[in-house]
Amino acid sequence: MQIVGAVLERSGSARPFAESRPFTVSAIELDEPAGDELLVRIEAASVCHSDLSVVDGSRPRPLPMLLGHEAAGIVERIGEGEAATASGIAVGDRVVMTFLPRCGKCPECATDGRLPCRVGAAANGAGTLLGGGTRLHRAAGDLFHHLGVSAFASHAVVNVASVVRVDADVPAPVAALLGCAVLTGGGAVINAGQPEAGEPVMVVGLGGVGMAALLVAIAFGHPVIAVDALTEKLDLARELGASETYTPAALAESGRRAPVVIEAAGSARAFETAFAATAAGGRTVTVGLPSPDARVSLPPLTLTAEARTVIGSYLGSAVASRDIPRYVDLWRAGRLPVERLISSQIGLSELDAAMDRLASGSALRQVIVFPEGTTL
Ligand SMILES: [Zn+2]
Ligand SMILES: [Zn+2]
Repeated sequence: MQIVGAVLERSGSARPFAESRPFTVSAIELDEPAGDELLVRIEAASVCHSDLSVVDGSRPRPLPMLLGHEAAGIVERIGEGEAATASGIAVGDRVVMTFLPRCGKCPECATDGRLPCRVGAAANGAGTLLGGGTRLHRAAGDLFHHLGVSAFASHAVVNVASVVRVDADVPAPVAALLGCAVLTGGGAVINAGQPEAGEPVMVVGLGGVGMAALLVAIAFGHPVIAVDALTEKLDLARELGASETYTPAALAESGRRAPVVIEAAGSARAFETAFAATAAGGRTVTVGLPSPDARVSLPPLTLTAEARTVIGSYLGSAVASRDIPRYVDLWRAGRLPVERLISSQIGLSELDAAMDRLASGSALRQVIVFPEGTTL
């Protein structure tokens, strides 16, 4: 079938992207769902830092690629594979896309989310779906998938392992954010940091993932100490319920430390800030994805003398099918106001400028909402 999508033609374009325009919006041919695949009509897709990392070249991926992975939509067709049939997902259901499909059979899939599925990770790296290959084509050749999803488009074909069903009362933009920002940021707190009841949680870096970590920590009853270089973000953190806020400089001066500190900025300096602010016996959780060349400088004696732990949490150590329903329950109870992470609604043709806003830190989550029947 013919769909409309925004294709990233090249990475590492000069900024501002609004001028270099790495995206083209065009008609694309999408295959029918086969085997364990679903055809999903995308309702909402938001712009995440992992999209930007492909645009700016800091995470090299095969190109051209149809980006977008934080999304939700309505199932329109279902393949006849065993897993698709057994999933209980029906045509008309709303599903959340998740960015790392789990095969359920490899040794990593048996680690309860601590390690990413090796089959899913290999498919993501190759820009294919879990079953191999791409379902996206245009006259000039095939397009690669982004993280098994490719949601900057009117429709997507995805493996059933890339979705989690949610009830119809969860609005699509909220559902979309549950699949990446909340899964990652919330998982860094709950799955990796595992604070004791009532213990304070510090969050360093208040992008979408950091703010989601803040919301989830508050929902679970933890006081939150929020740290970011941008005072506008500290203001929002306070509005969302942070009990203390600091710039990195003010934090260093204050000597404030916490038993669980989440680094969600993806930079070496933020990691050093988070490490320095971790209390004796505490855990520094890093969920950010800095460039592969980044290096940090730490006093290793501190680890020993203060009995400290550093935890790398890949994608929030999440098991999407287990964690998303928990976040839905909290959202429904009014305790997880995910809507507050949405800074604007944009169109598919505004992705270039949206990447500039994300890179400058002036946007949290910019959501593309697709009206039914979106065409060129
Ligand atoms: Zn993401
Ligand atoms: Zn696996």
